[in-house]
Amino acid sequence: MPKTLDTKNAYELETLAIRAGTKRTEFNEHSEALFLTSSFVFDSAAQAAARFIGQEPGYTYSRFTNPTVTMFEERLAALEGAEQCVATSSGMSAVLACVMGHLKAGDHIIASQSVFGSIINLFNNVIKKFGVETTYVSATNPAEWQAAIKPNTRMLFLETPSNPLTEVADMAAIAAVAKSCGALLVVDNCFCTPILQRPLDFGADIVIHSATKYLDGQGRVLGGAVLGSKKNMESVFQFLRITGPTMSAFNAWVFLKGMETLKIRMDAHSANAMQLAQWLEQQPNVARVYYPGLPSHPQHELAMRQQKTGGGIVAFEVKGGKEAAWRVIDNTQMLSITANLGDTRTTITHPASTTHARITPEARAAAGISDGVIRIGVGLEAVSDIQADLARGLK
Ligand SMILES: *Cc1c(COP(=O)(O)O)cnc(C)c1O
Repeated sequence: MPKTLDTKNAYELETLAIRAGTKRTEFNEHSEALFLTSSFVFDSAAQAAARFIGQEPGYTYSRFTNPTVTMFEERLAALEGAEQCVATSSGMSAVLACVMGHLKAGDHIIASQSVFGSIINLFNNVIKKFGVETTYVSATNPAEWQAAIKPNTRMLFLETPSNPLTEVADMAAIAAVAKSCGALLVVDNCFCTPILQRPLDFGADIVIHSATKYLDGQGRVLGGAVLGSKKNMESVFQFLRITGPTMSAFNAWVFLKGMETLKIRMDAHSANAMQLAQWLEQQPNVARVYYPGLPSHPQHELAMRQQKTGGGIVAFEVKGGKEAAWRVIDNTQMLSITANLGDTRTTITHPASTTHARITPEARAAAGISDGVIRIGVGLEAVSDIQADLARGLK
């Protein structure tokens, strides 16, 4: 009998990240198996019938469930302290499944104005067509959330810390607003991962992940997840099994391997980011540094109540606007100029002209994303090398 981990035990997160969810086949393999199969066969017509109507547990078809994907789901659920996890093909399909599973025409969402750009696109240009309206409010002001409530508000959606300015939202305060109007609070926990922050502990109902980022950690595959109570996951799972943006078994296997090093990576990303943020604060050509781990961050105390560390994302504003920011970027020799993050490799991005280029200059200004802002997804290289690469353009 293969040993199974009793997740009711109080295992530490790093242990769960390595051992939770593991299931072994008859060969008793040590590392999780990759089940590349689209369908599963039955012993008899009666068994097929029982499986299809859900009378007998077991696998039927990989659009519904797949053993490698199940292992990923159980591992991430253990880390987030969630009853159930539903894996998706990407972070965006996780958001889509969450909205489509829970909302209908005539419903209303209140969302932080600082959520990931594609999520704003999804709310404004896709789900709006189906009669769901969204109101945007400041991530850092719970009173604005309260004031935005309408009789048909069903979902509150936020990301903390936010991209790119690392604004920190008070999850407990916004959870209280959600409760007061009977809406669900959904938190995108992509930047922290459960190693640094567990939104369900602060009153969130649903957690969203882009597994593409830190859960893989090495920039290889896309994936996502929706987590919460069994009751809240039922309609999300049904949406996915009907429409198909489920996680591929191969990607689930890559994430399982990635998660085994999640704790040590998040610690190392955080330590590098903290050192880089402190160094940037000393640079004469840097006007401002945004990092929740710095005492100068406007929500530093709140961040330290919610998160174990400041995380791996640092933003800063260069004096001299876009020209100066582009000079810093173009003078790097090592850093990767890309919009991705959560990689072993440090990435550098100019949000105003890339990730946030399609929103109006007024909306960008309202969100505080000036032309001099640069975002660093701090990687695991020596921090001295990252600093030296930025120093050239900052001179
Ligand atoms: C990348 C990202 C997403 C979208 O995830 P994909 O896997 O790219 O679809 C959602 N939220 C946040 C915070 C992200 O950084």
